[in-house]
Amino acid sequence: MSKLLIVGTLAFDAIETPFGKTDKILGGAATYIGLSAANFDIQSAVVSVVGEDFPEEYLNLLKKNKIDIEGVEIVEGGKTFFWSGKYHNDLNTRDTLETQLNVLADFNPVVPESHKDAEFVMLGNLHPLVQLSVLEQVKDPKLVVLDTMNFWMDNTMDDLMKVIAKVDVITINDEEARQLSGEYSLVKAARKIEKMGPKYVVIKKGEHGALLFHEDQIFFAPALPLEEVFDPTGAGDTFAGGFIGYLAKTGDTSFENMKSAIIYGSNLASFCVEKFGTERMQSLSGKEVSKRLGTFRKLTQFETQLD
Ligand code: AMP
Repeated sequence: MSKLLIVGTLAFDAIETPFGKTDKILGGAATYIGLSAANFDIQSAVVSVVGEDFPEEYLNLLKKNKIDIEGVEIVEGGKTFFWSGKYHNDLNTRDTLETQLNVLADFNPVVPESHKDAEFVMLGNLHPLVQLSVLEQVKDPKLVVLDTMNFWMDNTMDDLMKVIAKVDVITINDEEARQLSGEYSLVKAARKIEKMGPKYVVIKKGEHGALLFHEDQIFFAPALPLEEVFDPTGAGDTFAGGFIGYLAKTGDTSFENMKSAIIYGSNLASFCVEKFGTERMQSLSGKEVSKRLGTFRKLTQFETQLD
């Protein structure tokens, strides 16, 4: 069975959408990636840091999902990373209201011995030097996927470029792809980003789906049109967790199989947005996942009488 190593934030989030507002709830890139990858019954472990204020119940939730948390440091007297954001009416765009790095500001990640040989590594959204340090500690991974966001482009671009140079796949949203490449066309942006290091570029477009680029090949997966979207927070991370979780489960990192991974990622992300925070991912059953996969299939396949 493949091992998956995940690095990313474990966080408190305060979220405001047109449908309501939350107090500090469980969030963080590693949380969403872990809960999403847990749908594939693989051996995953999280490397992260929290403060003393992080409830035991949240750590237990990860354990319950068979996620190894030996690599989660708890800083005595420290405060957990905090992020708050407000979504605009269309839910496709949001403003970050506040980012408090807290214990993340001087975090030295330690990869547990048991996962140094992980074949799959998910460098979730977090300081690029932390991502780099994790990469230096793993032995010889088969596939490294990197996710990042504009915050790190604005504040730590040089470090980010160093880590981008070392990964196989990068997943970013359309706005960030434009920021990183300086190109408006996503085709040109992906080409430029491939030159920075990653052989595969995944561009997430929220409710407009996701694109996979590799050399001159392009694959597109739509997002499932949903009746109810409450909170898009974590959709990108859930997508990434589904993408790498599927690849780890199948052990096949070909472009053809990455197309299916994109569909699995989109499928899982479609659940995440149906409720606030991690609520929907916590109650998700395997049956629901495979049923919706069928809906995806119908959405994307067609035949004509003139073929
Ligand atoms: P997503 O909606 O997939 O982009 O991810 C949202 C999650 O990212 C939230 O749960 C936040 O806690 C986390 N997050 C927000 N800003 C940052 C940041 N600068 N670094 C790492 N994680 C962040």
